[in-house]
Amino acid sequence: GGRRDSQQEYLFKIVIVGDSAVGKSNLLSRYARGEFDHASKATVGVEFQTQCLQIDGKEVKAQIWDTAGQERFRAVTSAYYRGAFGALLVYDVTRRSTFDSVSRWLDELNSHSDTTVAKMLVGNKCDLENIRDVSVEEGKKLAEAEGLFFIETSALDSTNVHKAFEIVIREIYDNVS
Ligand code: GDP
Ligand code: MG
Repeated sequence: GGRRDSQQEYLFKIVIVGDSAVGKSNLLSRYARGEFDHASKATVGVEFQTQCLQIDGKEVKAQIWDTAGQERFRAVTSAYYRGAFGALLVYDVTRRSTFDSVSRWLDELNSHSDTTVAKMLVGNKCDLENIRDVSVEEGKKLAEAEGLFFIETSALDSTNVHKAFEIVIREIYDNVS
């Protein structure tokens, strides 16, 4: 049977940025495959993973890009950002330097986008409460000042990981539909 013309499909590119070792690759592997790696494999990386969802009865494909380690050399290219409709800006709640870098990542993202990008500030590793270095309030405050969504996640114990991606995907859908 054929599919109806009204059954439009959507494909959204989403990029993950942030300093090295904040947990970008693990957020993606947790979301897309339900997996977590304890060993940091900075050089290994698939370019992107595709997740399919239904929103309002429409088929939505989220193509989520991971940097594969280029961020260590500040060498994330314009090709990485090209065509992105959404972004996760990730820092590590146990390392303040990664939070301080968020504005640089935001500038880089903004300078490479020519469209409305749904942006989520993500404070990852919230399972490490005992060695927290950035408060929830500071995260919220930055997000409000910059017009970003905000969430804290743990790729280790899965807290809010699906929610982080799905809020972004929903926002993109609302922007384009
Ligand atoms: P990336 O360089 O930003 O892609 O970071 P990775 O995903 O490679 O993670 C860097 C290190 O942090 C690895 O040792 C992970 O096991 C660890 N890690 C990632 N996410 C979490 C988390 O939510 N909680 C904890 N405790 N460790 C994490
Ligand atoms: Mg990585």
